Amino acid sequence: MQNIWYPWLNLTYKNIITNYQNKKLHHTILIESYNIQNTYKIIWAVIRWIFCNKKNGKKSCGKCTGCILIKTKNHPDFYILHSKNTNQIFEINKIRNIIKIIKNTAQQSHDKILWIPNYTSLTIFSINALLKIIEEPPKNTFFFIGNILYNKIHCTFKSRCVFYQIFTPNENIGLSWLKENTTIKKKNCLIALRINNYDPELAKNFIQKKNWIERIHFYEDITDAINKNNFLMLLPKLNTTDVLNKIYWIILLLWDSLKLKTNIFTYFINTDQIYLIQNISKKYSYITLNNILYSWIQCRYQLITIDNINYELLILQQLLKWQILKKR
Ligand SMILES: [Zn+2]
Repeated sequence: MQNIWYPWLNLTYKNIITNYQNKKLHHTILIESYNIQNTYKIIWAVIRWIFCNKKNGKKSCGKCTGCILIKTKNHPDFYILHSKNTNQIFEINKIRNIIKIIKNTAQQSHDKILWIPNYTSLTIFSINALLKIIEEPPKNTFFFIGNILYNKIHCTFKSRCVFYQIFTPNENIGLSWLKENTTIKKKNCLIALRINNYDPELAKNFIQKKNWIERIHFYEDITDAINKNNFLMLLPKLNTTDVLNKIYWIILLLWDSLKLKTNIFTYFINTDQIYLIQNISKKYSYITLNNILYSWIQCRYQLITIDNINYELLILQQLLKWQILKKR
């Protein structure tokens, strides 16, 4: 686990700790975020704090026996349930064993914690096994579960949990974090943030790795295809492993062109591609733009959801559609 802490995790962390300090922390805590790593960070920080013997306010000391035992994952009251790559029977037995140990040591005054890093790794059988203990939890026992936002949760399980949700930070927080953690220009930071749905870490990786350059080159290829009115030129550019990214960039470009068409200037994504956006926007009517945008969204969805689809053929068909589009 990378040891980077993000400022937008502070509020949830503080809320959980405050509830614990006030003896109001619910026994089963489900933390959801736009990426699972955020839930690891929060839960891990809370667990370290709970087991720390020399707490400094809302911080753990990092040096006491409790902290050291947790760091090395040897704390006798800490259980972690990674159920991936195990078979069902093994998984259920593992849960039952943990429950048995927790129940047998429940009379002791110290806290016990079971961490399930990813809800999606649980089968319906393990959910049922867990429900038995969550419905009547032993004293001083907490269950922490991580989940991705909007992943479906079993109804009964859901009703037994308290939820904490972590969303992407707003644009200003994202921008100031990128400014502190990179040397990238503000204008490009903003583009990267918007392309990556306001996830600052993804935006940072996007701009620092080859994606940024590839995006610029790909938009040059699109400019070329539009100027020559030959969209089939794009086929080899799309016939690559990162085809989904490239289609996503096409979608964002068409979306910006549609926004320009309707004079919506806020939340432009590709602010470094204004000439290309103007060019596309002038070339096609609103309805045509809308149709081609929808058709690329559909194409990307098919590529994601249909196994063994002939993606070369699908993209060729898509480019041909673009090629024969009526200009305004
Ligand atoms: Zn400590």
